[in-house]
Amino acid sequence: MKVHNFNAGPSILPNEVLYKASKALIDFEGSGMSILEIGHRTPLFQAVLDEARELVKELMQLDDDFEVLYLHGGASTQFMQIPMNLLENDSTASYIDTGVWSNKAIKEAKLYGFVDIAASSKDSSYNHIPKQFNISPKSSYLHITTNNTIYGTQWHKIPETTVPLIADMSSDILSRPMDFNKFSLIYAGAQKNMGAAGTTLVAVRKSILGKVSRKIPTILDYRNHIENGSMLNTPPVFAIYISMLTLRWLKDQGGAVAMEKQNEKKAALLYNEIDQNPLFRGTVQKEDRSRMNVSFIMDKPELEEEFLKFCKKEDIVGIKGHRLVGGFRASLYNALPYESVEVLVEAMKYFSLKKA
Ligand code: PMP
Repeated sequence: MKVHNFNAGPSILPNEVLYKASKALIDFEGSGMSILEIGHRTPLFQAVLDEARELVKELMQLDDDFEVLYLHGGASTQFMQIPMNLLENDSTASYIDTGVWSNKAIKEAKLYGFVDIAASSKDSSYNHIPKQFNISPKSSYLHITTNNTIYGTQWHKIPETTVPLIADMSSDILSRPMDFNKFSLIYAGAQKNMGAAGTTLVAVRKSILGKVSRKIPTILDYRNHIENGSMLNTPPVFAIYISMLTLRWLKDQGGAVAMEKQNEKKAALLYNEIDQNPLFRGTVQKEDRSRMNVSFIMDKPELEEEFLKFCKKEDIVGIKGHRLVGGFRASLYNALPYESVEVLVEAMKYFSLKKA
């Protein structure tokens, strides 16, 4: 154990992934070359890419209409690439606004067509997930952000809709089982639950593509990536390798079902402490609390700095809240052990008693 790493992303990775990757940096599979030195079109790397894509399909139980791509450009590129490929100039897409990341997606979509903000929790500082909304059956798609990394809210029930459902799952992908086949496109930056920064997972239904009339640049057209087996240009080799190792680890742990059990236990321990400790307070409505990013504040903000220093001494890192929300945010991604949450909770108890 190094430190208790609650970073929001890039974030903690399983030790065995780091160990394996460190060996591959020197000599990959006995090839006499580093993973950084091998050609991306060699059988050595092809096997990595194939396994990573297969593991995604298997762990998410995706049906055969889905193609799995590992792309460049972060989830932020998807904010633009999705409407470019799926939203006609004179058509409307529906978006639910649950915070900073939804807003960035909305801003890009407006460059390509009309956007209907079907619901927003902006008026209450994004402290909940909207429950009431109507989606026009004519809408090109509905976009949601399943977990709001900054505000600490999460969709616990995926909305039913007749239009294609698109989700940014950057901060809760594979943290729980879900009927992923309800979606038409799922995307996620790998740097939280799926590996290292540098690659983005896109799982897209082939049947929704090819319907817009605009010209799409080659590198931004999903169909070209599909045709080329997610190797249209040089892929982010190392990031994909780390993702493959992380998914192998996830499968060994028992997949999304096992992850959910563990993640629920971790979140319950921390939220319980937040609710009973007089010094701390949660920031979002209980039923929408995220199991990935736990955001909380102190009733005495003048003690915040001191608490952060105390945590640092206890080897607890990454719990400073996002600058927009303040306070604290503890990210409890798949790879974070339960013991780290126990250490944080002990620190909260101790600090609170000392200050009582
Ligand atoms: N969506 C969500 C929900 C995120 O948390 C983030 C990054 N924190 C992004 C999108 C942007 O991802 P990237 O930095 O990979 O573009």
